[in-house]
Amino acid sequence: MSISNKTKITGLVFAMREEQEGLQAHIQDKKIIHIAKRDFIQGNLWGHPVVMVLAGIGKVAAASTTNLLIHHFQVNQLILSGVAGTADALLKVGDVVIADALLQHDMDASPLFPRFEIPLTGKSRFSTQLDLQQALQTATLQFIQTLPQTIHASHIAEFQLQNIKMHIGLIASGDQFIHDSAVLKKLKQALPDLLAVEMEGAAIAQVCDEHDLPFAILRTISDSANETAEFDFLGFVKNVAAPYTLGILKNYFENRPS
Ligand code: SAH
Repeated sequence: MSISNKTKITGLVFAMREEQEGLQAHIQDKKIIHIAKRDFIQGNLWGHPVVMVLAGIGKVAAASTTNLLIHHFQVNQLILSGVAGTADALLKVGDVVIADALLQHDMDASPLFPRFEIPLTGKSRFSTQLDLQQALQTATLQFIQTLPQTIHASHIAEFQLQNIKMHIGLIASGDQFIHDSAVLKKLKQALPDLLAVEMEGAAIAQVCDEHDLPFAILRTISDSANETAEFDFLGFVKNVAAPYTLGILKNYFENRPS
């Protein structure tokens, strides 16, 4: 007998509080369980069981949280939604990136292993699950069409969100907020297909790979990972990235068959 979608528990992971708050307000039948200095919020979002958690920032925080979601809460799939710096001239602030693969850009055990390869796994790139990735793509395209009704006109003007796009491709993670064009340029030379940089996705990917758990990573571009990266970062997360997360995940859950 197959498990229906309704009984599938989705783990929702956030790096920053501002990103979680919007969705948290919609959760039904809420129950909070405190483990390892984190609040795991169990409940239902638009009719689907979820466990949402603020993981914190960085690869260790993300990996540790992912393990807890798997072993304490038996999640069947996992989605991280957050922000990222762009690593490609085609991507602008306000665009959405959905990963098809993730890599840890600060993993380097060369010359013992090729640069970026996770020692003893033979892997440097971890692929996301296609079905989940495609469902998020649909939800994102729907969201982009309704953007003017969701984001305040003053923020659309301030962050120039008139023509935002969705991109699918490689996201790299490391324990580093990249805010230097020379650092970014070197990384891009080593990884020409790189679209965005952040600090958690590839850690989640490695843990999910160990457990054969479907996962997806959704990122809104918040900055250009160069000297301007800090500019109104929190204002962007609050006024733009948080409503993106809410709008895209609402579409995702509403589209999902019960
Ligand atoms: N100033 C923030 C810290 C944000 S750290 C605060 O005080 O809370 C950056 C977060 O956004 C991480 O979760 C990371 O995944 C993502 N991120 C956005 N832009 C990034 C960049 N240029 N380099 C690395 N991570 C980035």
